[in-house]
Amino acid sequence: MKVTEHITNANGKTLFSFEILPPLKGQNIQSIFDSIDPLMEFKPPFIDVTYHREEYEYKELPNGLLEKKVVKKRPGTVGICSAIQNRYQVDAIPHILCGGFTREDTENFLIDLDFLGIQNVVALRGDAVKSEIYFKPEKEGHHFAGELVTQIANLNKGIYLDDDLQNTSATNFCIGVAGYPEKHMEAPSLDSDIYFLKQKIKNGAEYIVTQMFFDNKKYFDFVAKCRKEGITVPIIPGLKPISTKKQLNQIPHRFKVDLPDDLIMAVVKAKDNDAVRQVGIEWCIAQSKELVAAGVPSLHYYSMGKSENIKAVAGAIF
Ligand code: FAD
Repeated sequence: MKVTEHITNANGKTLFSFEILPPLKGQNIQSIFDSIDPLMEFKPPFIDVTYHREEYEYKELPNGLLEKKVVKKRPGTVGICSAIQNRYQVDAIPHILCGGFTREDTENFLIDLDFLGIQNVVALRGDAVKSEIYFKPEKEGHHFAGELVTQIANLNKGIYLDDDLQNTSATNFCIGVAGYPEKHMEAPSLDSDIYFLKQKIKNGAEYIVTQMFFDNKKYFDFVAKCRKEGITVPIIPGLKPISTKKQLNQIPHRFKVDLPDDLIMAVVKAKDNDAVRQVGIEWCIAQSKELVAAGVPSLHYYSMGKSENIKAVAGAIF
């Protein structure tokens, strides 16, 4: 079922959903099931699976020269989605990127998803590869998520890249896109970011999932600005419970989001990471309660492969 249908069927009740990432290459799928199993009691109608593009590594050869190697450290997004749908009978949502994909690759990827009975995708640009500062599309690829949304929306109308194809079958994907309550790191302003977010919706996206935030006011202000600009689709808040002291620096650096001072000080004063985990859970429960009271469509948790803290939060809310 489509995410938008799940939201409609919930009749205003806030849903529980979460995002997982594929295991590192060499691990098996059991680690994924082990992280999902404890969360199934909260009846997620959909589970997102992130996509990880290739990275470049440089290996020093015996002659001192460097060899460039292309590696994909977390493959398996499509296989995991299919396994989730089979095992749990819930909708699995693969993330799909512009980065690393030509238009042809994208089309073929979408055909695989369609054949597997996957009905939702989250369309993203992706970040620059680690060895580069700015995002660079493939030669025949998309520059921005909005273009990727258009390609998926075209396929939903039976429009393939090759116009010679006749009697084509239309896909039926519900398309989600990313939104940033504290603006995307490259956007010159929040207003310009929302301008391009609106274009993604115009091109065919049907719902938005936000970047994580730790101050609900940022989300409420963002939603108000989006509504003012005429964006009417559901805006699903993304939440993450902090679980280590290191994340105080890692999260702002990696995701360009602010942490409120009260949360920072509680983490700083925590005596060890067990205590930090408890602070993170309590903060996330308080955020979740306020968001449910505001009638958000779903609470979407970034699990990063660790389910105990999400289980503790969900147990207090659902
Ligand atoms: P876009 O919407 O293309 O925006 C990128 C930047 O370009 C923004 O600053 C925007 O304002 C600007 N912009 C957009 N359109 C235009 C235009 N037409 N002209 C000029 N400027 C424009 N990354 C992964 O690698 N894998 C994942 O699975 C993944 N999942 C994510 C899930 C969520 C919910 C979120 C919030 C992020 C996720 N990311 C993931 C990270 C995401 O790929 C990065 O944040 C990336 O840098 C931007 O992706 P986007 O789809 O928001 O890009």
